[in-house]
Amino acid sequence: MNNRAIVELDGICVNYGEVTALENVSLSVFEHDFLGVIGPNGGGKSTLLKVILGLIKPHHGSVFVFGKPPARARSRIGYVSQRSVFDRDFPASVWDVALMGRYDRAGIMRWYRGEDRAEAEKALARVGMLEHRGKQIGRLSGGQQQRVFVARALVSEPELLLLDEPTASIDSTMQSEFYELLEQLKDSLTIVMVSHDIGAVSVHVDKIACLNRELYYHGSRELTPEILEATYQCPVQLIAHGAVPHRVLKEH
Ligand code: ADP
Ligand code: MG
Repeated sequence: MNNRAIVELDGICVNYGEVTALENVSLSVFEHDFLGVIGPNGGGKSTLLKVILGLIKPHHGSVFVFGKPPARARSRIGYVSQRSVFDRDFPASVWDVALMGRYDRAGIMRWYRGEDRAEAEKALARVGMLEHRGKQIGRLSGGQQQRVFVARALVSEPELLLLDEPTASIDSTMQSEFYELLEQLKDSLTIVMVSHDIGAVSVHVDKIACLNRELYYHGSRELTPEILEATYQCPVQLIAHGAVPHRVLKEH
């Protein structure tokens, strides 16, 4: 397996006014990694993804994605943003939403070509939503909607997929189906998924980083009680015997 570094963050600091969101964060993501970034709400997870996308410029530190400044790598990144409450009457079909992912490539006239439609079809098939193409997006379940948003990210044929809390609006049975989908996608993509749901994430990803302003990461899926305590600032026993399966915890 190739060990090319796809994301390289070095000494990143991001402030919003008085608030420090990221402090001295360094991170390397390699080709075919499936990395989960966990941490409490407000820990800086969404900010980290926006730095990788080039949407936020850090005050300190360097960012390289595919060896370039992130804004110049954006066409190679698929992004599913954190969702807020969705308008169920939003007047777009599954097909419309998927095709939106080709918008940047639709040319100056913003006309979709046969090639764009072929990619949208392929992406919807990949996430198992092609048969629902004619349905209005708001009428689908949370899990189905999220699959469509993944399809929208996939139609630009990205090599890196960034997912911000993708299972937050999905009930637990649908969540495992969603993770099965990611399991299939990870063969052809590098995936970084952020979530505050430490239990679900730690079961499904290959590597885990913990983020609470500072990042704790050893390039593996092993979490030490010290790291969990530093990240969540609560007694680790509670976490260790609660949501998190023991196998991700080092012997202690
Ligand atoms: P997470 O995704 O882990 O919940 P965020 O990256 O959204 O964390 O936020 C990290 C910190 O930065 C939080 O304290 C949040 O309130 C603050 N923050 C995020 N975005 C903004 C913004 N646009 N303006 C001001 N503060 C922000
Ligand atoms: Mg967030």
